[in-house]
Amino acid sequence: MKNFRENMLISSIILIVLGSMISLGANMVMGIVMGVSGIVCFVLGMSANTKLELSPEKIANWTPSEEKLPDAGRFMYRVDVTLDEPFRSTILCGPCGHVEIVEGKRPSSYTCEKCNKELWDSEEE
Ligand SMILES: [Zn+2]
Repeated sequence: MKNFRENMLISSIILIVLGSMISLGANMVMGIVMGVSGIVCFVLGMSANTKLELSPEKIANWTPSEEKLPDAGRFMYRVDVTLDEPFRSTILCGPCGHVEIVEGKRPSSYTCEKCNKELWDSEEE
């Protein structure tokens, strides 16, 4: 989805620039069509951006000190829990990159839905 957003934004810029060049130089109608397509792409790209802001942005901004993880033999993961209610945990699975949003605080154990790897189980400690 990140690539989709970037592609849409890049396409929109190219279309708007090309459209304005063509409308000035060669074909006015063609230029307008390209310019409008560019604006549509831009709007799509930007709206995709706002929808995705919740989880990936938070994960990107929240950097756990992974080198302090006590057991290096375990899978790497990131957990981001919201500070206020409603509590919501965003879990990034290190092995496959799957992002899962779980209602409530960090669960005591978690197994990735996508790759079925157990990321942690604090009850066994
Ligand atoms: Zn996984």
